[in-house]
Amino acid sequence: MSEADTAREENPPRREFKARGSFVVRCEGCNLPALNCLCPYRVSAQSHARVWLITHRMEHYKPTNTGRLIGDVLDDTRVFTWHRTEPDAELLALLADPGYAPFVVFPDDQPDYDHGRVAGNDAVGKAMADGRTPVYILLDGTWRQARRIFRKSPYLDSLPVLPLRTARRSRYRLRKSAAAEQLSTAEVAAELLRQNGDIDAANVLDDYFDAFNDSYAESRGHRKIHTPSPAMKRLLERQHQVENDSENAVL
Ligand SMILES: [Zn+2]
Repeated sequence: MSEADTAREENPPRREFKARGSFVVRCEGCNLPALNCLCPYRVSAQSHARVWLITHRMEHYKPTNTGRLIGDVLDDTRVFTWHRTEPDAELLALLADPGYAPFVVFPDDQPDYDHGRVAGNDAVGKAMADGRTPVYILLDGTWRQARRIFRKSPYLDSLPVLPLRTARRSRYRLRKSAAAEQLSTAEVAAELLRQNGDIDAANVLDDYFDAFNDSYAESRGHRKIHTPSPAMKRLLERQHQVENDSENAVL
């Protein structure tokens, strides 16, 4: 990466993001264009594993960021903003907690680290068998930002590297430059959850991601969604179920 690139990444022009959609009316709840708001589809799920996001600060400005969807579904999700020179004290404390078994999710074909660190899903299973809570640490940003976070965060150096092995193709419609093999952050989380036994959480997150994807893409085309997609219907049904259960609990 050249110095100019680095400078641009550190101090990107804000206008880039304002230019597109600056006149769009957004929902304050979900930050999506109000035409097809995501709020009705927000439901929670439980998982054995946790997700901690280390988010490049530019991602926070992007309404197309999918990392935030994970926290909408899984209440225990933690989001840390990455600062190259100042590691988050709370993150460091969590990493030192023996109750957690953190894995940094990163491809296993990179020259950035000792390949002895590469772990598989069996290590996630073993952590659970040992009574520890597995944690997927996702580096949330563009590939270049994620790689920079990986390289420039010494507190990640001792963690096992968990690559995501999947034949899944991305369903992400909002960032055209992304290759089909390159999954969005929410898709990566859903896939890891699924592969390691958190099936319900994976299904809900997948449906919520699909609802986000379709809502946003249709709004960009100025099309109102009149008929909920199958994923949207499942989320609405689940929400209905939760409401019924809590009513029954009161009675
Ligand atoms: Zn909304």
